[in-house]
Amino acid sequence: MSTRIAIYGVAGRMGRSIVRVVGEDGDASLAAAVGRAQSSAQGVDAGVLAGLPQPLSVPVSSDLVAAVTGCDVLIDFSLPAGTQAALAACREARRAAVVGTTGLEVAQQDALAALAEVAPVVFAPNFSVGVNVFWALARRAVEMLGEEFDLEIVEMHHRNKVDAPSGTAARLLEVAAEARGVSADAAVHGRQGVMGARTQREIGVHALRGGDVVGDHTLILAGPGERVDIAHRAHSREIFARGAVRAAKWVVAQPPGLYSMGDVLGL
Ligand code: NAD
Repeated sequence: MSTRIAIYGVAGRMGRSIVRVVGEDGDASLAAAVGRAQSSAQGVDAGVLAGLPQPLSVPVSSDLVAAVTGCDVLIDFSLPAGTQAALAACREARRAAVVGTTGLEVAQQDALAALAEVAPVVFAPNFSVGVNVFWALARRAVEMLGEEFDLEIVEMHHRNKVDAPSGTAARLLEVAAEARGVSADAAVHGRQGVMGARTQREIGVHALRGGDVVGDHTLILAGPGERVDIAHRAHSREIFARGAVRAAKWVVAQPPGLYSMGDVLGL
């Protein structure tokens, strides 16, 4: 049966990308498209807004309660204040949710936990299927190769990215540090000057910036006489939308609880 999806934050980059993915998915349909009341997108067909060749006969609306009531699952990619309202509406209607908004503070984390008591919820800081598999492979490789192998992380992003290292590299560092049994303060960011030989414990982290690179991450495991590189390369932001829609189709069949993308993928 087709999963009826409502999108919250539909006029944003991610919201429009999710409309395109849902519009092309035979097992999902767009039940509602919610944007800010003040937005010029109000009343515009969601398919047209997203640049699909055909309208979807779903106009953008600000009626969150009607959207939640008429769907099986709400996908939220907005801003933390919006997420809080969306989670409250889902709790009221006991509806499943998929939350991709980042930068959640304690109030929104509490709202996630409150919804998870009555309905299934997926929250993930990165919905890319490939990135989640990449983290799992990285963990396994660190455990399998052991302490003889030095760990170095290299990431590259487009020239306009303002923060470093990326959130995905920061999570990779956590995963590698956990698997190695050291704390994340073992990180040594961008070496320079005469620093002496590297210690066995440290994990080098290097951020490259340039051009229009969407996001490259590599974990290098360098041992005596050999080296293993595990890499993920993102070509498009659509990977997050595809992962979120996959999570939405999965979560509707789950009992109440808070789930990760690792749970969705069975990692
Ligand atoms: P964006 O700025 O293009 O879009 C955000 C949308 O949310 C806008 O349409 C805005 O009008 C709407 N919005 C903001 N506040 C709202 C409110 N209070 N009520 C209703 N709507 C509101 O941003 P984006 O690039 O689409 O990213 C959205 C969020 O998703 C960000 O938090 C971003 O970090 C996150 N993100 C997560 C992943 C992931 O994999 N988890 C991937 C990409 C982006």
